[in-house]
Amino acid sequence: MKPDVILCHYGEIGLKGKNRSYFEKKLQENLRKTIKRSLPDSYASVDRLYGRLIVRLNEQGQNEISTIIALLKNVCGLVYFAPAVQTAQDMGVITELAVEMMSSGDYKTFRVTSRRTDKDFHVGSQKMNEDVGAAIIETTGKGVNLGNPDKTCFIDVVDGKAFLYTEKIQGQGGLPVGVSGKVVSLLSGGIDSPVSSYYVMKRGAVAVFVHFHSVPYTNEASIEKVREMIEVLQSFQQRAILYLIKLAPIQKVIMTDTEPKYRVILYRRFMVRIAEAIAHKIKAKALITGDSLGQVASQTLENISVIEEAISIPILRPLIGFDKLEIIDKAKEINTYDISILPDQDCCSLFTPKHPATKARLKNVLVEEKKLNVRELVKTALDSAVIETFN
Ligand code: ATP
Ligand code: MG
Repeated sequence: MKPDVILCHYGEIGLKGKNRSYFEKKLQENLRKTIKRSLPDSYASVDRLYGRLIVRLNEQGQNEISTIIALLKNVCGLVYFAPAVQTAQDMGVITELAVEMMSSGDYKTFRVTSRRTDKDFHVGSQKMNEDVGAAIIETTGKGVNLGNPDKTCFIDVVDGKAFLYTEKIQGQGGLPVGVSGKVVSLLSGGIDSPVSSYYVMKRGAVAVFVHFHSVPYTNEASIEKVREMIEVLQSFQQRAILYLIKLAPIQKVIMTDTEPKYRVILYRRFMVRIAEAIAHKIKAKALITGDSLGQVASQTLENISVIEEAISIPILRPLIGFDKLEIIDKAKEINTYDISILPDQDCCSLFTPKHPATKARLKNVLVEEKKLNVRELVKTALDSAVIETFN
């Protein structure tokens, strides 16, 4: 029998009252949008059902269940989900279906795990476990193992119906994208920043992306990479906006007017200023970067604090404690790695000095920065921003 619904479970810790209903509605909306981006509207509907969400599939939807499962795996906020068969609240029907479901597959031991949310149903969960279990043994000859079964027959009795399933599929966990507000994520085209964007989306923030490029001194490869990355990241957050910012005019004056060893820090201070201005415009509350402590010259504690001094909103760094190999593993898991390693011309490496300061002192950086018309440079960069929307 083909599953005709997918039961979706989310974490409930800390979710009470108003928050909970907001969370559920957001998750419902995100599930709908996710499925709708890939399949016709009529294939699936999403309803709320007593502390879980239920995706109902029509016949075409049932034929596309593997596509839908792949989509749900990337919906933040789902802890697990289970393709299930819906049936009447009737012990005869439930037992028959359970036996049918447990008659296939290569396994030795099993258990039945019933949950009765609907107290109107006259059979208790323990009795259901025993009776359905006995029927399965009789037909299949399999043995019971309550502690460590090879296969489990789950029966959820809820809302006047029963749902049977044998498989729970792990989701992303986290919070539905949108419940935590908005952030501006600095996306470089490298390995780290898409992973850091993933982690904030996973905690419920909508990421608006900013990419700085040095066209015409570099080619457009980094821009193309960032677009491709966003398309991949769209499996977690359906809609996205990208700000493309020209950094070259700023880099040119920094190159000609300031000490080489502070260049990278000055570039970074401009990047965060421009990103902060975008954040104010779109009502985002923080910036996100892919920094990991000590990974490169600009990511020492000294330099991090000198960069942060340029702005007043927080810069969050989800990868601060990650090793490069851990970041790479995650990048592979979320499918951004192959794009990240494509060759490009990084805006900063082009204008990077031989010996960048690893422990810059704010005082010295400010002396250099005084030589520049900071406000004007930021304004010009913002005025020439190109904004792209991904639906
Ligand atoms: P990544 O792998 O994300 O490029 P990285 O290891 O190359 O990081 P840095 O070059 O020091 O490290 O960049 C640190 C962070 O600054 C990046 O993770 C990103 O968030 C931001 N950043 C750097 N360059 C750019 C850029 N051209 N556009 C947008 N953000 C950038
Ligand atoms: Mg980089």
